[in-house]
Amino acid sequence: MKLVRPLFQQILDDTIELFSKKILPLPNKVEVRFQSKDEYMEAVKSNPLIQQQIQFGFYTDIEKEYVGFAVVYAKDKFEMKKLLGLPYIITICDEIAKEVLKPFTSTEVKAYLTHVYLHEMTHIFDKWLKEMLPDVWESCLSQTNGNEQMANELFAEHIPALAMGDKSVALYKDVEKKLWSKIFNRMEQIRKQRGL
Ligand SMILES: [Zn+2]
Repeated sequence: MKLVRPLFQQILDDTIELFSKKILPLPNKVEVRFQSKDEYMEAVKSNPLIQQQIQFGFYTDIEKEYVGFAVVYAKDKFEMKKLLGLPYIITICDEIAKEVLKPFTSTEVKAYLTHVYLHEMTHIFDKWLKEMLPDVWESCLSQTNGNEQMANELFAEHIPALAMGDKSVALYKDVEKKLWSKIFNRMEQIRKQRGL
């Protein structure tokens, strides 16, 4: 499917509706901002979790192998935004998104993007969501031995299923598996070698 820029905001708007209905009514708007691949990859490579993954050898050439394309920067989830009524921002590298999602149908792309957005929205509203779902958050913390950054990622992976139907969950998982299989397999291999 050929992804054009207006589609990113359109699918986000649908996702916001879903999020507001099923999880939490949103205080402010959420908007998409696009970022060039160079800038996006700079930020990816300076992320402490990713740096750790590079050290472990999960990527041989991250510029070519990294298939993530969405992020919420700390400044864009800042609580002042709520007070000032400013929109929260999800940053998208559409160059990567267009490339990696090319082989998929429009239904698959929609399911995958919906999941990506719900994941990022969980990061934006994590403070409220953790208060709302303390058991889910506690279980994420215990599964990651109290590593808060990893627990945040696990939490953001748990929340989307609460809003999406089983069918779209199955669809996004299928796309995710195809996109990340190379890296996931390598992670598995390295974990086994190191006895982790
Ligand atoms: Zn995340």
